[in-house]
Amino acid sequence: MPDSDIKNSHPLAPGSTIGIMGGGQLGRMTALAAGQLGYKCHIFCPDEDSPASQVSAQTTVAAYDDIDALKSFAEQVDVVTFEFENIPHESVQLLAEHAVVRPGWKSLATAQDRLVEKEFINTIAPTTPFRRVTSPAELEAAADEIGRPAVLKTARMGYDGKGQVLIAPDCDYAAAWAEMGADIGILEAFVDLSREISVIIARSPGGGVATYPPVENRHVNHILDTTIAPAVMSPEMAQEAVSIAHAIADGLDLVGILAVEMFVTRKGQILVNEIAPRPHNSGHWTMDACPTSQFEQFVRAVCGLPLGDVTPHHDAEMKNLIGSAVRGWADLMSDAGARLHLYGKKEIREGRKMGHVNRIYSRGHWK
Ligand code: AMP
Repeated sequence: MPDSDIKNSHPLAPGSTIGIMGGGQLGRMTALAAGQLGYKCHIFCPDEDSPASQVSAQTTVAAYDDIDALKSFAEQVDVVTFEFENIPHESVQLLAEHAVVRPGWKSLATAQDRLVEKEFINTIAPTTPFRRVTSPAELEAAADEIGRPAVLKTARMGYDGKGQVLIAPDCDYAAAWAEMGADIGILEAFVDLSREISVIIARSPGGGVATYPPVENRHVNHILDTTIAPAVMSPEMAQEAVSIAHAIADGLDLVGILAVEMFVTRKGQILVNEIAPRPHNSGHWTMDACPTSQFEQFVRAVCGLPLGDVTPHHDAEMKNLIGSAVRGWADLMSDAGARLHLYGKKEIREGRKMGHVNRIYSRGHWK
């Protein structure tokens, strides 16, 4: 059924099946929220016993380019969505021929490629200056233009700082290129940032939106470590961040949920870093501090239900449990203030997100 058909018809009724591409923790928490609303989830991912399939009605274990498996999956579900965006273009097209896919291809294609993403964002809001580079010589020329330090990133398949290289004034360009490890890169001017924030916005098929307040994100080794919600900032800056997220969601014609990551420079300017058209680590605090979590909101948007209330009833701090930090689970379980969320991953690896802990406080705590 084309998306326009269900746009104008009834929401997907509880009891329907939501197909989720990807089996990680974002899919797991989405499936848990979907279950609470009476939906079933069918996970498509290449791994057995994934975090999402542990809590879902059904799983197809297959490669993301397995045409027969994709077709059969699309025929068994009522809507298809994504818990990560790096699904091959051809696979998304194929799914769209057999099922309603939300968010649409524009959101996914834009978020998959940092060059497409930054070009699109620049039509709406400022980003740091950037250049497309395809060789060490182009990298050096681009660094001459935008200045050093700069950050070289892979155009595609990058996350949590993977494939990123700092380009310092004394850079060995051939070595930096090899370290990045891709054929196409993006060189970004280094942002002298005072902090990082993000805004999560949900958008329904009819274009209605609901926006959580901006939060502050603190990273360690390029990986999100802590989110402070809401971010302490002037109402004007918060409004600017929300307006940018709204314009980006509209520009993508998004149906679902979108995280917009932003830098606040030392001069107080907001620059958009990147977007993710799915639930986001910086929205995990909403599970314990808002009437509607980002996962429930995602389900609501994708199923065409009314969006839920996003006004926080508490301030919150979210801390990721990365790698061996998860070994502290027993202490956290006996800590009355800690709300523990574990992802069911058996193997502990350095840098791997194993769970998170939310702590909630009275409104105004961070002021
Ligand atoms: P990304 O994968 O683009 O989200 O980058 C991961 C992290 O690296 C960001 O959250 C920032 O902490 C840092 N970073 C990325 N790009 C830049 C930049 N252009 N200037 C300064 N820091 C950056």
